[in-house]
Amino acid sequence: MKKRKTLKSVYTLGDLKEWRDVDPPIRLGVFGDPVEHSLSPQMQNAALKHRKIDMQYARFHVSPDELREAMDLIRKLEFVGVNLTIPHKIAALELLDVADENVKRIRAANVIKVGGGKLHGFNTDGRGFARAVREEFSVDLRDLRVLVLGAGGAARAIALQCAKENSERLVIANRSFEKAEKLADELRDLFVGPRVLGPVPRLQAIPLEEAAIRFQIGHVDLVVNATPMGLNRGEPSPIPARLLAPHVMVYDTIYSAERTPLVSASLEAGARGANGLSMLLHQGALAFEIWFQREAPIEVMRKGL
Ligand code: NAP
Repeated sequence: MKKRKTLKSVYTLGDLKEWRDVDPPIRLGVFGDPVEHSLSPQMQNAALKHRKIDMQYARFHVSPDELREAMDLIRKLEFVGVNLTIPHKIAALELLDVADENVKRIRAANVIKVGGGKLHGFNTDGRGFARAVREEFSVDLRDLRVLVLGAGGAARAIALQCAKENSERLVIANRSFEKAEKLADELRDLFVGPRVLGPVPRLQAIPLEEAAIRFQIGHVDLVVNATPMGLNRGEPSPIPARLLAPHVMVYDTIYSAERTPLVSASLEAGARGANGLSMLLHQGALAFEIWFQREAPIEVMRKGL
């Protein structure tokens, strides 16, 4: 049996410029800066092997000023596609030939598919998030009152998904309040349906401040962290345990540790908490399906992670 060649931990733009392929060939990857931490190769390579697709997925360290050239090269080298992570999801927009509806609305792409010499952009974060919530808490977004912390790329994908699934309520809390307001405004047309509600608005923007969060906690079911707070060792939880309550479900999109500061805070408050590994898995499975038009082997990918 042919032995798969061990991949380098990280490739660079220099490697792409003087591409010397391995066996099986690298036709997929993740572009990021930093990218060393990415767990995507583990799950995508497990899926490729399982589906007997003769190619590999690698990490590429691509800095912001290298993105244009790197995207051009994957087109020329006939890659199947790439994932984009920090800080490329927004910057990639102007390099796309075709953007799907989600990408246009979220203004961020996390999946690129190369087809017919064109770069097609997709965003699987929102749907990946919805599947993760279903898996972790056995509930659907449409039944929930959701508080999202953040208004960046991940928060926009999550907020749009809540809107599309007709969530009971959506509150967007952000450090820069005007960005939360802008995001709420952009989603207003999707929150017009009749819903039975209490004394609080169905769609609301608030500052990421203690008093505002304290008031909202009694009126939400799911709290989602879509900020990077807690990513680095020693960072505090975006919401302290004293502001949480046992009735809420807490989803932290961060997956750098099993018990992120927010997950620890939720357990301390007697609430249920989950980290972002399940979202990573499901957004990756959806990317696999975009690239290959075949069902992703979820359990194999989960094991790979
Ligand atoms: P982004 O576009 O840079 O947005 C960052 C958001 O976090 C902004 O709303 C920003 O507020 C806020 N923020 C940053 N630092 C903060 C601080 N110290 N205190 C309070 N708020 C702060 O980033 P992104 O792409 O949305 O990613 C956000 C997080 O989502 C990342 O940490 C990543 O781990 C996670 N994520 C996970 C998955 C997954 O599959 N699990 C997928 C995507 C993203 P301002 O507007 O005030 O700057």
